Amino acid sequence: MRQLEMMSNFVRLAAHLQPDSVVDGPGIRCVIWAQGCGHNCPGCHNPQTHPFDSGNVVSIDELCEQISAYGQNITLSGGDPFFQSDSFAKIAKFAKSIGLTVWAYTGFTFETLINNEQYLNLLKYVDVLVDGRFDISKKSSECKFRGSTNQRLIDVKQSLINKNVVLWSDEFDTFQIKNNTYF
Ligand code: SF4
Repeated sequence: MRQLEMMSNFVRLAAHLQPDSVVDGPGIRCVIWAQGCGHNCPGCHNPQTHPFDSGNVVSIDELCEQISAYGQNITLSGGDPFFQSDSFAKIAKFAKSIGLTVWAYTGFTFETLINNEQYLNLLKYVDVLVDGRFDISKKSSECKFRGSTNQRLIDVKQSLINKNVVLWSDEFDTFQIKNNTYF
């Protein structure tokens, strides 16, 4: 699968850092919007983030300074940050080093990511992964923090330890409460 070629200390973003989000994971979070996505999910809400040559090229050092100044847990969204896994691994590693949690959205499945060294390099700094392509036929307003019921909220650390997907639990997820499952 394609990786966006970036100079080692830069990342391509679709927008400025977005602090104070309350819909991209629990609590108040700072969202980093990756530019570039090759999944082409029908009904995607962010088609402007798909081209790999659009958006803005940003210094990772400057971005980390901004993350530190906001001091909010971060969410990697897009676009798909795993198309720039080397750059986003540096950003996620920095966030973890100053005590922040990291959520990441991807169109890849967890099973695909763990079988690729480059993807794993980013995944190992992610606390919760929202995985899978958006499926418009499974769109549901009952899904908290995700668009369709096929997408999973995955506790990455526990999943890597168990070598099996362990779902992140959220007592306020009405879909999970009603169905006792994410599928
Ligand atoms: S993975 Fe996300 S950004 Fe990419 S096409 Fe699918 S919904 Fe859109």
